[in-house]
Amino acid sequence: MNVTDLQFAQDLDGKDPLAKFRELFINEDPDLCYLDGNSLGRLPIRTVEVVNDFLQEWGSKVVNGWADWIDEAETTGDLIGRAALGAAAGQVLACDTTSVNFYQLAGAALAARPGRKTIITDKANFPTDRYILQGFAKRHNLKLIEIDNESPNTANHERITPELLERYMSEDVAFVTFEVIQYRSGARNDIKAITDFARGYGALTIWDASHAVGAINLNLDKYGADLVVGCTYKYGNSGPGAPAWLYVSHRIQKELRVPIQGWFAQRDQFAMGEVFEKNDGMRGFQIASPSILGLRCINTAFEMIEKASIDEIERKCVIGTEMMIGLYDAWLKDLGFVLNTSRNPEERGGHISLIHPEAKRISIALRLFANVIPDYREPNSIRVAISPLPTSYVEIWNGFARLRDLTATRQYEKISTTNVKVT
Ligand SMILES: *Cc1c(COP(=O)(O)O)cnc(C)c1O
Repeated sequence: MNVTDLQFAQDLDGKDPLAKFRELFINEDPDLCYLDGNSLGRLPIRTVEVVNDFLQEWGSKVVNGWADWIDEAETTGDLIGRAALGAAAGQVLACDTTSVNFYQLAGAALAARPGRKTIITDKANFPTDRYILQGFAKRHNLKLIEIDNESPNTANHERITPELLERYMSEDVAFVTFEVIQYRSGARNDIKAITDFARGYGALTIWDASHAVGAINLNLDKYGADLVVGCTYKYGNSGPGAPAWLYVSHRIQKELRVPIQGWFAQRDQFAMGEVFEKNDGMRGFQIASPSILGLRCINTAFEMIEKASIDEIERKCVIGTEMMIGLYDAWLKDLGFVLNTSRNPEERGGHISLIHPEAKRISIALRLFANVIPDYREPNSIRVAISPLPTSYVEIWNGFARLRDLTATRQYEKISTTNVKVT
């Protein structure tokens, strides 16, 4: 069977152990090819009920509810850890945003390496991380190294390796920080190799797993990760603005201190004492009152991930992205597209990146004329993702067929790129 036959995708769906999860999501338009689950996941049907139940709970319990709600950042954190991170209980907190959590852990890492004045990231890193680091470097008078690995056609597709990192490392480095999966190219970095390498210089490693959580088994405990942050609304399907999470390895929880020391981190919170005293465990990393509504959305979505099993999810990402690359070879290569993601499944996650000089107009035209939602990233790439629980192989196959037709017939030439804000 050839990948260019629709039957190929139908067969994959037929034997997909995760196929049954698709109907558990809201899907109002069966003709839509939603290939943007790496940006915002679909809505699980059960979440609607769970949110309503919580409103009832709030209405009837009012302030008494806090007796039950007070520890939920930790219980939801443990669920995320168990379902998707390969993290034993007591190392994950579901709270705030990825950006706030990243600031908190960067501050903690810096304070844990007094005297060191260098921090390292890469230019391909997600903007919020780079901006936070730039502000950080200025405030603390640090040398910020942004490794230039951006050029779209580099052989390694923005991948970070110890060999690349080596020439920037020294005993002055407090921490290095990278994405587990590069948001644009989809390159997957080796958590263990980089963490071990940085540790050799006494530096900590902070990973941003936003584009990886819910797509691959992160195996954080097994790989000996130090500090990790991530969101829940991409492959996590927990909803726009749902709380993010942070992971602090058991090994270093005692020595680390976050810069915003709020009242939830206080050892005896309700004694309302005069002086801050950091609590043990993950509570010592929590700033303040969690969004219980948001946590309930996470619970629903990550219980689905746990049920499906993260290894099975990762397997579907491998098969789905392999099919995408097969369709790229057969249909898109000759239309001016360049694949900017590794052909080695161990070096990618759930999305691939396709570069095209007309990427922007093509991605807009796909939404307007072809009922396909991909996403566009500056300056010239289209990203397409398989979100293993809600996406079918046929949905991807159809999306690629429409992408081929729309590009071949140059329908995108009807689009003017002015006045389009969110891509
Ligand atoms: C999506 C994403 C974020 C989002 O940050 P928020 O604070 O949730 O807005 C951060 N980092 C990376 C790598 C991302 O992919």
